[in-house]
Amino acid sequence: MITLETPLSAIHGIGQKFLVKLKKMGITSVRDLLWHFPTRYEDFSQIYKIADLIPNQEATIQGVVEEVSGRRAWRRNLYVTEVVIRDDSGSIRAVWFNQPYIKNTLQPGRVANFSGKVSGKEDIYLSNPTYELVKEAHETRHTARIVPVYPETKGLTSKGIRYLIKPVLDHLPELEDPLPRAMLSREHLPDVNHALHDIHFPLELPEALRAKERFAFEDLFFLQLFNVKQKLTLAEQSAPSFPTDLPFIKDLLEHLPFSLTFSQKRSLWEILKDTAHPTPMNRLLQGDVGSGKTVVVAIAALHTAHHGYQTALMAPTEILARQHYETFKKFFGEFEGGVALVTGHDARVFYGNNLEAPRKKKELLKEVKDGTVKIVVGTHALIQSDITFRSLGFIIVDEQHRFGVEQRAALVKKKEAIPHFLSMSATPIPRTLSLTLFGDLELSLITELPKDRKPIITKTVVQKERAATYEFVRKQVKTGRQVFVICPRIEPRQADPDAPERFSFRELQQLDVKSVTEEHEKLSKKVFPDLRVAMLHGKMPSKGGSASGGKATKEKVMEDFMNHKTDILVSTSVVEVGVDIQNATIMIIEGADRFGLAQLYQFRGRVGRGAHQSYCFLFTDSGSETARARLKAIVEAKNGLELAEQDLRQRGPGEFFGNSQTGIPDLAMKALRHPELVKEAREGAVRILKEDPKLKKYPLLAKRLTEFQTQVHRE
Ligand code: ADP
Ligand code: MG
Repeated sequence: MITLETPLSAIHGIGQKFLVKLKKMGITSVRDLLWHFPTRYEDFSQIYKIADLIPNQEATIQGVVEEVSGRRAWRRNLYVTEVVIRDDSGSIRAVWFNQPYIKNTLQPGRVANFSGKVSGKEDIYLSNPTYELVKEAHETRHTARIVPVYPETKGLTSKGIRYLIKPVLDHLPELEDPLPRAMLSREHLPDVNHALHDIHFPLELPEALRAKERFAFEDLFFLQLFNVKQKLTLAEQSAPSFPTDLPFIKDLLEHLPFSLTFSQKRSLWEILKDTAHPTPMNRLLQGDVGSGKTVVVAIAALHTAHHGYQTALMAPTEILARQHYETFKKFFGEFEGGVALVTGHDARVFYGNNLEAPRKKKELLKEVKDGTVKIVVGTHALIQSDITFRSLGFIIVDEQHRFGVEQRAALVKKKEAIPHFLSMSATPIPRTLSLTLFGDLELSLITELPKDRKPIITKTVVQKERAATYEFVRKQVKTGRQVFVICPRIEPRQADPDAPERFSFRELQQLDVKSVTEEHEKLSKKVFPDLRVAMLHGKMPSKGGSASGGKATKEKVMEDFMNHKTDILVSTSVVEVGVDIQNATIMIIEGADRFGLAQLYQFRGRVGRGAHQSYCFLFTDSGSETARARLKAIVEAKNGLELAEQDLRQRGPGEFFGNSQTGIPDLAMKALRHPELVKEAREGAVRILKEDPKLKKYPLLAKRLTEFQTQVHRE
């Protein structure tokens, strides 16, 4: 008896040749094969009369093979098989290239279905149709129905895949459905057995789509079950509580040279409310670059210190860590209690009233351990080092979405209360996506920029305006300003949009590096030989040290730019999101049409911080109406999140993360365009876990959840 776990190699009738090809697509078990879903369907469900066929239509006919012939075509290496097919309305030719073996199957007198495109103008014929002999009491698989089209690989076509799936599915015993019956009927979704049949062999299209929806829902549901479970587990644990000391907060706010925006205040309030509770906070603070997240978390950290607990604030790079540290120094210089900076290269601490001192790292760690230092700002390397806190009450991470429960545990060495947790992000993530990816986190949104920001002058630049724009840029640099140039994400062409090949992150990165190098070459040698042009890309080593052998490192290049040792920085899109460089006033984006709206918006957000007027030039070679329309959307958008939602609707979720990076299954990923489905999955998960937190009544759910946890495991 076969089960989902049966390896395909153990199934009689699947030859070695196929096994190898399947394995190439990652398919080795019955489950893999049956869960290899079609990407789309072709509708061949109606059988046409030959006399009714018209050019260019896709159709299925049924007829008798009258004649079969084969010949070499005028091009020597092309072998053409021609078959004449007749039904009661007329006859037509069908033509195949380089498939000489067809004549073995399609012998004169046999009846078969043929599905494919009607080619030619007057003298029409079927070109390369799919065919299938019609036997009595034999359900046709490939023709005369809705035909699924699968992701294919060389030498294994959709037809081949269908041919393999049919007998396996026929011999598979009834599966137990992991989704409870009540849930299926509430959502009007088919059970797993019907859905498996319908997704591969639908009789009509709506059936196939409902089956797809079921599997998408199942994936979304498990993601949500995982999220909600995580949330409930956390809610059972205890954290230190910091009752909000309003006079203290007011005092801090009065030290700021500006007043907080409305959504900064709201976010701060949400954080303070959470940390007043004796259960661990788990929150995401999302806001555009420059929207002022750091001040908000700084106040929360100071409030934590006020209650005698420590805070760890972690940034992805040294530069950003230092920037956060400077925020404390700049605005809260009178605060007493010790803020420390710990990175690979630097260890320093300040104890208020400008009492800043460098420290040996070892000494500093001692001060953290005995609790003298209250706030530690550093890189993510913090968690790897041998740092021990006396009373860690709050963990803040910047731009590191996947920082999870395990890393948190690593910081808490003693078995005690769990610290509160806050993740900061400038990446605008549409609600459906963040609910799915980070659904265990509460969300705080900063939706507006500080009022004093001057609008950034944004312009599309077509080919013929380039020279003039470069001239303008040169003048700006001569008056002391600096420039970012972002190079386009280059993705290799994909032959078939329905069977996209997967490119690894590394491969894509390689291509991006090429474009940065070329652009740097052009700008430094031809366009701006008189200016200082630097280059930055993801494949450069991030930090110095002896290993880098004196080569340029990301940190060094960035630092030189910050210190105005260079004028123009050419970089890929993946580099340094949060850096605050007030003197950089020009953002040039090459190949702007290749980026998503939300991304363009985010790039633009890197300028416009300081007193000088800022500019954003969207370089495009297309110069089309569409480019102009997209630009308009960027100028009018209130915030990045709004654009991200728009992007999601228009271009699909692939824009935000590569699928492989999220760990979200394909179907679920596609389903993110449909907020209702995500919402229902979420509500379903909440309902079940509320009723039965340990999933005792749903052993199958419990088992699948454990499997899912390993599968979706976040690094
Ligand atoms: P983010 O981390 O969200 O990208 P930052 O916290 O780095 O943004 O803030 C960007 C700049 O804006 C900083 O120089 C900060 O001091 C300033 N800033 C923050 N909030 C306000 C505000 N409400 N009004 C004016 N300036 C602000
Ligand atoms: Mg920031």
